[in-house]
Amino acid sequence: MTDRRAELSDGLARTRERIEAACVAAGRSPDEITLIVVTKYFPVTDVAHLVELGVTDIGENRDQEAKVKVAELREQLGDRTPTIHFIGQAQRNKANSIARYADVVHSVDRAALAVALDRGASHTDRVLDVLIQVDLGEGSQAGRGGAVPTEVLPLADQIRDLPHLRLAGVMAVAPLGEDPDQAFARLARVADEVRSAYPQALWISAGMSGDLEAAVAHGATHLRVGTAILGSRPPHL
Ligand SMILES: *Cc1c(COP(=O)(O)O)cnc(C)c1O
Repeated sequence: MTDRRAELSDGLARTRERIEAACVAAGRSPDEITLIVVTKYFPVTDVAHLVELGVTDIGENRDQEAKVKVAELREQLGDRTPTIHFIGQAQRNKANSIARYADVVHSVDRAALAVALDRGASHTDRVLDVLIQVDLGEGSQAGRGGAVPTEVLPLADQIRDLPHLRLAGVMAVAPLGEDPDQAFARLARVADEVRSAYPQALWISAGMSGDLEAAVAHGATHLRVGTAILGSRPPHL
């Protein structure tokens, strides 16, 4: 194994142990949880190592970088290309591009973006899985993007009418300066409301390197972990 692959293998093993321990504490099965490795700013060679190590899902947050990386991955890995999650704030003028290579978009927070993604996906006749990003900072400075909780169901209703989008659930980033436990408890309530109207919208994407245990405790189905596996991010490419 190369040094880098060994480093990534260690980071993955430690993260999987944390997930297992959090599942034991919460009385959940690790089978309920998908680990998305956030590879933003890291090179394609790292993604190739991760795939060899069994990673099936990666997260990217900038269109310009992701577009190029995914094209290289498809060329190198073919069918073994991991599932691509777009987790960054998406500008409407990037929606067409994102809809071409992403399998899942986690950051839908307004109707205009949903409409643009639907149109983008229609060009290649794809159906894109989307999550509604929920602002757990309730619109305050501490918030880190997303629709405030009262806007979530109306947005879900708008997504229902877009034929190239499929609502898969909700996503959030814990606000800075608040106990993630309380924030993810609020997210779980929003997720319940969405599920009662849209029973197939089962995903809760929550939890990063610093707070994955709290996310597992509150029902996360998808964790987005970067630093704990890949190390500190290099400066922007
Ligand atoms: C970068 C990023 C992550 C990963 O964060 P780490 O702290 O490195 O695990 C998760 N979610 C989103 C939305 C991100 O932008």
